Amino acid sequence: MVPTLTAPGSTAVDPGWADEVRALARRRDAVLLAHNYQLPEIQDVADHVGDSLALSRIAAEADASTIVFCGVHFMAETAKILSPGKTVLIPDARAGCSLADSITADQLREWKAEHPGAAVVSYVNTTAAVKAETDVCCTSSNAVEVVASIPREREVLFLPDQFLGAHVRRVLDREDMHVWAGECHVHAGINGRQLADQARAHPEADLFVHPECGCATSALYLAGTGAVPEEQVKILSTGGMIEAARATGAKEVLVATEVGMLHQLRRAAPEIDFRAVNERASCTYMKMITPEALLRSVRDGTDEVHVDPELAARGRVAVQRMIEIGSSGGGE
Ligand code: SF4
Repeated sequence: MVPTLTAPGSTAVDPGWADEVRALARRRDAVLLAHNYQLPEIQDVADHVGDSLALSRIAAEADASTIVFCGVHFMAETAKILSPGKTVLIPDARAGCSLADSITADQLREWKAEHPGAAVVSYVNTTAAVKAETDVCCTSSNAVEVVASIPREREVLFLPDQFLGAHVRRVLDREDMHVWAGECHVHAGINGRQLADQARAHPEADLFVHPECGCATSALYLAGTGAVPEEQVKILSTGGMIEAARATGAKEVLVATEVGMLHQLRRAAPEIDFRAVNERASCTYMKMITPEALLRSVRDGTDEVHVDPELAARGRVAVQRMIEIGSSGGGE
């Protein structure tokens, strides 16, 4: 029962595929989790769909002994860090993240040596080895609060997302904050000119920025610089986006984020015309989790995610601090 790929972003799956995936998952005592940027078929078969932090919390609280994480590798690692006693599977371990890959643990250690005593704040898009070198993790929705919790007299090293870092530095007017020059390859599809052009072409539409992942943090930064009319722009979580669209009565909403997000929005509010600022803003890593790979994963128990227990213990402290400081949703 092998699904046939038809076009990027869409698949033609065997009608029995979803039933078979669910039956195999039950047999394995597995819960199926899918990130918002997954292919629609994967989102529809999953038990839970959400951002990586919400999914990691669900993974930790789930009764199931196995977690099948349909997302990218650092997310599955974060689930393993929070649930060390569970088996965590990712349908294709090659599904990486250009942002997480922009800094290694060795590079971070060197950076720390240049700034002794500095507090290290890492966006959650980092490998387990980098989290182990981190004081506190953050999401895009609580990055400002996390950095604000560090005393002003202490230097801050913020990584790896330069746009989120620049946004936080501007909001907090914090000069002693050093920002790593990392970026996500998808954000190039959501640039300032594109945002401004779309806002002009659709003057009646609201322009919603969903800072879910590295792909949208450049939009978050640009919105703050006035690149697009302030009255049109709203920075929102998924739930907040639907509520805001209903509240304004907008018939059309332009969404600045990865295109996978549109599936949940259209399901939640079918009467609203949600449009991507750029239809080509698609994360190739996320789309590596194909229906075929998911079927193989629940059937054969592949690919298992392992995190060194000592690294996991250190990374857990940084992730738990992030959870304590709070994340109101919409974080990566
Ligand atoms: S959209 Fe960018 S930041 Fe998010 S998983 Fe893909 S490569 Fe990483």
